[in-house]
Formats: sequence, C-alpha cells, structure tokens
Amino acid sequence: MNQPSKKASVIVIFGATGDLAKRKLFPSLYNLYCKGELEEDFAVVGVARRKLSNEEFRSRVHDAVIDTACMDKDDKHKQFSDHFFYQPFDVTKSESYQDLKALTESLDTEFNIPGNRIFYMAMAPEFFGTIALNLDAEGLIEGDGWNRLVIEKPFGHNFSSAQKLNDEIRQVFSEDEIYRIDHYLGKEMVQNIEAIRFANALFEPLWNNRYISNIQITSSETVGVENRGGYYEKSGALRDMVQNHMLQMVSLLAMEPPASLSTEEIRSEKVKVLRALRAVIPEEVSKYFVRGQYDAGEVNGTHLQGYREEENVDEASNTETFVGAKLMIDNFRWAGVPFYIRTGKRMTSKSTKIVIEFKDMPMNLYKEQSGKLGPNLLVIHIQPEEGMTLHLNAKDTGDMRKTTPIQLNFNNKQENYINSPEAYERLLHDVMRGDATNFTRWDEVALSWKFIDPISIAWANEKEPTFPNYASGLMGPQASDDLLEKDGFHWWPLPENK
Ligand code: NAD
Repeated sequence: MNQPSKKASVIVIFGATGDLAKRKLFPSLYNLYCKGELEEDFAVVGVARRKLSNEEFRSRVHDAVIDTACMDKDDKHKQFSDHFFYQPFDVTKSESYQDLKALTESLDTEFNIPGNRIFYMAMAPEFFGTIALNLDAEGLIEGDGWNRLVIEKPFGHNFSSAQKLNDEIRQVFSEDEIYRIDHYLGKEMVQNIEAIRFANALFEPLWNNRYISNIQITSSETVGVENRGGYYEKSGALRDMVQNHMLQMVSLLAMEPPASLSTEEIRSEKVKVLRALRAVIPEEVSKYFVRGQYDAGEVNGTHLQGYREEENVDEASNTETFVGAKLMIDNFRWAGVPFYIRTGKRMTSKSTKIVIEFKDMPMNLYKEQSGKLGPNLLVIHIQPEEGMTLHLNAKDTGDMRKTTPIQLNFNNKQENYINSPEAYERLLHDVMRGDATNFTRWDEVALSWKFIDPISIAWANEKEPTFPNYASGLMGPQASDDLLEKDGFHWWPLPENK
C-alpha cells in the first residue's frame, strides 16, 4: 500500500443536501480532483436530514459539477463519484454519530486514509455547537489522524453569541484545528493585496498618511434579497457583510508588514488593525455610519420591487440593505486617513473594488492648460474583474504643457488565460493542507463584533424614518455621498456610479 498523501482525509459535510454544498463545495472538490490536487486517498461523507442512498447522493453531486470546466472527462467523474457516501443524520441523536464513526473508519481502510478528518459545517449555525460536542462525546475525534473543523458564516450575530459558539467548539477543538471561513479571503485579488503591498518598492513607502488621502472599498450587488428575506431580516448588511468581509479587507490594506508570511504573523498584524479601529460610540453612529434600504426601481426597463415588498420581509422593516461608513484607524501609519466602505443590495453594478487615492501634488505646474490634475489612484478589482489599474497623469500628445489622465491596467484573467480558482476551491485546499492563513482567528472575530455591536444596537433602537431611501439601481442613499463630501472627497470612479 502506498504512503497516504498529506491531504488524505475523510471530509464530512454536515448539510450535504443544502445550497452551499451544491453550489460551492462539490464543484470545488471536483476542480481540485481534476487538477490532480486531490489524490485517490480521500472520501466525502454527506450527512443531512433527508434519506438518500449513496447512488442518489452521487447523482446530486454529478448534477452539481456538470458545468465545471473539467466536466468533459467522463471517466474522471465516475472515479470522483466513487469517493462519495451519504448518511441520513439527526444532529441530536447519538446513534447518528455512532453510525458516522463506523462509516468513516471503514472509509479509512478502503481509501488508505490515516484517520484524518475534516468536519465541514454547512448547516444552520445553531447546530454547530451541538455537533462539535457530540463528535467528541461519541469518539469521532479520538483517532490517530488530525482533525479540522470548518465553520461557515455567520459566526454568531453579535459578540456574546459568537463567544458562546466559540466556547462550545473550543471545548472540543483547539484554535489551530478551527478554520473559520470568510470566503473573501479566498479571492485571488484579496490575497494579492499583500503581494501588491509587500513585493513592490513602488507602493510600500507611500502606503501611509503622508501620501494617501483616503481609501475606498465598495462591494455592491445588483440582486435584492431574493428568497432569503427571512434570513436577511435578522442579519442586514452590517452583520452580513461589514463585520466579516469588509473589515477583513480593511485589515489587509492597513496592516503593518508582517515579519514573515506565516499564518500567525499575518493574523497578528491584522488583529492590530482591528485593535486600532476607532470605536464608534452609540451617540456618534450617524457621524460615521449611514444605512440604506432599497426601494422599488426601474432597471433596464424592468420594474423591481422594494425591500419591504419582498417575501418574508416586514412591510415596515427597519433592516438595512446598504451600509456606508467612514472608519478611522488611530495609529501612526493611518492617523487622519479615512477608510470609506460601502456595501449593499440592488445597486448599480455587481462589483467589489478597492480604490487607494493618493494625495495631490504639492503644486500643479499644469493648471493653466489642464485645470485640476486628477489624483493618482490605485484601483484593485476584486470581482467580477480581477486585476488592478493605476491612474496617472501624462503629457497630452501635442501640447507640452497639458496633461491627460492615463491608466495602466493589469487583468489577471487575461494574463493567466484561465479563470483563477474559485475562493472555495482555494480555501478547501488550504484546509486539506493545514494552512489557516486565510481563515479568521478568534480574536479577529471577537474584535470585529465588538466594533460592530454598538452600531447594530443603535440602529435596532432607532427606527430609520427615511427608509426606504434609495431606489433600486442606485449606489445607495444620498447620505452615503454626503459622508465623503463633508471631507472633500467623493466615491471613485465617477461618473458612472452617480
Ligand atoms: P440550506 O438550508 O440550503 O441547507 C442546510 C442543510 O442542513 C441541508 O442539507 C439540511 O438537510 C441540513 N439540515 C438542516 N437541519 C438539519 C438537522 N436538524 N439535522 C441534519 N441536517 C440538517 O443552507 P445553506 O445555504 O447550504 O447554508 C449552510 C450554512 O452555510 C449556513 O450556516 C449558511 O449561513 C452558510 N453559508 C451559506 C452560503 C451559501 O451560499 N449558501 C454562503 C455562506 C455561508
């Protein structure tokens, strides 16, 4: 028998009949398999409430991967399916765990796996604690191999619920066995922030309050809440997007250069940023934060209904579908530099991008001919485009004393000729390799919630009388533009987002 690979493991997916498993986990596993990143020594056990046979489960997996790039390789798919098993499961019943234990142990033998386990929680968060405690009680994590627990968002809905969940899973798993997913950290260009900053002599010396006037992060969606009104009513954009994804991007942009690219060095630098975030006290929420809720609107000739008309949404809902904010990082590097963030649903375009705006030249030699010089901008395109654009000023052809704006572009997809791997593919691979760099450590989660809690409390206590305050298809309410205008800035790029 061959030596098992380092990644050899039984992957147990709790919630294997759900949306996440179908849309993200199965296709990612299949891509990894096709690319040869997974050898034959792995098995996937799907567990969920429904009664399914292995064959029925495999057919679902087949349907889920049918559109992936590798799908032409039929034989490959058959081989891949043979690694999948299903077990009906009741999270509260000890017999379910005992059956699971017996199955995973038999798969160890069948696939030459040395007892390694990945427990992937793709179920509603209220079950995470119960599952972890039962895995321990029923002896599923006492084998010889390693154990890793993958936890999906939301990790709590405020600091105290996050702490409770963390306490439960920490009774069973150590911090370095826990992989808290923030899928933004799996995105190519989010991972590229570190390389742009720390591998370019051009940027790092300028990356501070002497040369940067402000930083803007936009993550906009065109869709509304679709059929997830019930979930969204309890969450809102602040908890759904800002506490995790937006603050993670802020941390990567603002952190100090780590001593090395090791997991702990990087996470420790990110944590320091969160510690330096200026806390927003309830009385000052409106100074730093604006909230929005989409109204009906006409987009490309189609009438779209407002948030309050969506299914499972209160007709007088106080839930925000948009957040705009000004964050201040009170440390030597960033004192005085606002980080503006905005995120929301039913906005003009689906796009995530970061704009770093540099300060103006000390004087403008070209003003008579060219008027105001545009600032230098570094735009990092996270999705759907992946790349960056540097906005510069150059001499206008013909007129020596006149400048014209130019752009230097890098398009990651064009450059590599193939799509870069999906975030989930990368992150699953990281879990198998035991690399937790792109997952959030508990102190990051705790500090993010502590920052967010006063804002969500203030908003829950005070109904926003202007809701709904932006028409579907706009970039949020007017108050979001005003937030920057008060400081003499505006959202880039102009004018298409006006
Ligand atoms: P889903 O409702 O589509 O699926 C839930 C799964 O859990 C199903 O397989 C269901 O059978 C199973 N389940 C529910 N109760 C059970 C019980 N008592 N015993 C056994 N099985 C049970 O949910 P989803 O969209 O796949 O999301 C799963 C988790 O992933 C949630 O925590 C969600 O917040 C998170 N998440 C989902 C997405 C996504 O794109 N769907 C994105 C980010 C995070």
